[in-house]
Amino acid sequence: MGGRDATMVLLDENGIRCDGRKIDEPRRIMIKAGGLKNADGSAYIEFGDNKILVGVFGPRDVHPKHMSNTDTGILRVRYHMEPFSVTERKNPAPSRREIEISKVIKEALEPAVMLEKFPRTAVDVFIEVLQADGGTRCAALTAASVALADAGIPMRDMVAAIAAGKVADTIVLDVNNEEDQAGQADMPIGYMPSLKKITLLQLDGILTPEEYKKCVSVGVEGCKIVYELQKKALHNKYFGNRDD
Ligand code: ADP
Repeated sequence: MGGRDATMVLLDENGIRCDGRKIDEPRRIMIKAGGLKNADGSAYIEFGDNKILVGVFGPRDVHPKHMSNTDTGILRVRYHMEPFSVTERKNPAPSRREIEISKVIKEALEPAVMLEKFPRTAVDVFIEVLQADGGTRCAALTAASVALADAGIPMRDMVAAIAAGKVADTIVLDVNNEEDQAGQADMPIGYMPSLKKITLLQLDGILTPEEYKKCVSVGVEGCKIVYELQKKALHNKYFGNRDD
């Protein structure tokens, strides 16, 4: 947060944002299920200029064995940014931010995955951010849900994710990198539309209680758009292209 470029117009007099979008318009989203032949399930997502690949492995044996749980399976998530994914080369060593995002995505996926169906085993989710442009945790969570479904892991629902935020005193859907840097608030939301349950909600910035409620509802509506694209990606892989 906090005005990196004070001269940039985040919202013009016609309600058009810095990248030409309307306030309730998500960036272009393309999801592909499958693609990695060595993974049990995989997905690729382009979410605006974000490009992210996810591979899922398992359920498989846990090593060392004492890490396993006799009552339930465990989910392990690694979110990793390629050094070339951002303008200034990112240090390849795991950063605090990557460790935090791995944890946040794991906790957002756990309510969706029926871990109790495969005790003593682990499901590993590897997330590779090839190109980052604001909102990678939401794009990665969305793709990870598709990759888990592609792997045939029993799930209660898929988690769809997108951020809402506050830009130029206005609540907008799908905050991009410039808006994240120069805007007033960024609220990533993960939501299971069939179960009507939020599994990820973070807030960077300050909102009034009314703005908070508006952000949540704008974010949830955005997740429903993302959810349709997740289902379409799986449908395209397993039943061929669907035009609707
Ligand atoms: P998210 O990607 O989920 O929005 P952040 O809010 O932490 O997570 O990051 C916002 C954006 O900042 C990222 O999407 C990326 O474009 C950029 N970014 C993150 N880490 C770095 C880094 N080490 N160097 C340059 N840009 C970065």
